[in-house]
Amino acid sequence: MSEQKECHPALAILEDLVRIQSVNPHYGSDACGEGKVAEYIERRFQGTKVKVSRQPVFPGRDNLVLELRTGHGDATLLFETHMDTVSIGSMENALTPIYRDGRMYARGACDAKGSLAGMIWALEECAKHPEQLHADVVLCAAVDEEHEYRGLRAFMAAGMPIAGAVVGEPTELSIVVAHKGCARFAVMTHGKAAHSSMPEEGDSAIFQMVQVLQFMRDVVEPELRTRSHPLCGSPTIVAGTIHGGTQINIVPEQCEIEVDRRIIPGELPETAIAEFERQLREYIEREGLQVQVSVRELLLDWALETPKDAEVVSFARHAARTLGLSDELVGVTYGSDASKLQRQGIPTIVYGPGSIAQAHSKEEWVSANEVGLAAQFYYHLARSFGSPEDGGAS
Ligand SMILES: [Zn+2]
Repeated sequence: MSEQKECHPALAILEDLVRIQSVNPHYGSDACGEGKVAEYIERRFQGTKVKVSRQPVFPGRDNLVLELRTGHGDATLLFETHMDTVSIGSMENALTPIYRDGRMYARGACDAKGSLAGMIWALEECAKHPEQLHADVVLCAAVDEEHEYRGLRAFMAAGMPIAGAVVGEPTELSIVVAHKGCARFAVMTHGKAAHSSMPEEGDSAIFQMVQVLQFMRDVVEPELRTRSHPLCGSPTIVAGTIHGGTQINIVPEQCEIEVDRRIIPGELPETAIAEFERQLREYIEREGLQVQVSVRELLLDWALETPKDAEVVSFARHAARTLGLSDELVGVTYGSDASKLQRQGIPTIVYGPGSIAQAHSKEEWVSANEVGLAAQFYYHLARSFGSPEDGGAS
């Protein structure tokens, strides 16, 4: 355990955070929710210049909103990340921070308590010398990111003016300005039931679905490959589940697939579903197929594309360069809260320690070094945001 001693103070905060179980209650009855993490953060900021308030989202589950007001309300920088984690699952010693090979292993270490610890440390440092800041700094530690994003939605509904935002999620210290979104929907085919001894009396919904899947392979996939975003690549489509029929001796009346269509910046989720349905109906018509379909929306999530000249991007690149880190702007294929903020007109980047590959995994870990660097990055960004010298220097 000597390893962490010479490390960054944000790691001590991270150790405290992972010891507190904060599994999202969606993941079962032994999940504790975010309450104890909120209490811990609240305690840390007692007696400081940071105003702490709770924003009720669910009974007993509040967002924690920390405001360092410095008289620059027109230039408020938001740090946003989440307090909940996915379930412990089969991870051993998940609530004990264990250091090995420069990594800290624990549930939530990577997604997203590493980011949260760095943001807490940065805000504490800023609060020591608020007169040196050029912006107000707000940290929203949200509930329910791992299920329905209700915490972020509640924060946005409160309508606090924000000039730029950083969402804390594992990006391996890359400045993420673009990511994919998704449109999830169900496609159902409608046939006619009949006893399997007289199949000619019926119409198999499963066979109809074969035609829909053929359409996806022959028409949709090649077309999506022709579209591309410079940072995110091409959109994709996957039929993740299929259910059809009720009994072996009955011609199936219904069959349903659930489709996950990943959209790229420039595409809209609702448009992607409408486009799929229109093209499918045209295909059925053109090929003269006997297929009865209906399409049902399941979930919409927007893609992220933050303007490269946004203030938060310029200051983020400046902060990264100051620390000798990469200031390259990158895109990723997974989604985050950033697109919801950006959609409200708040320029937003995603930045944090750890890799998405370790999030939600059986062996969740985060690089101890990256946790310290992310904390420094948040601090430098908060210190310079809104200053006349450092902005636009990219
Ligand atoms: Zn996360």
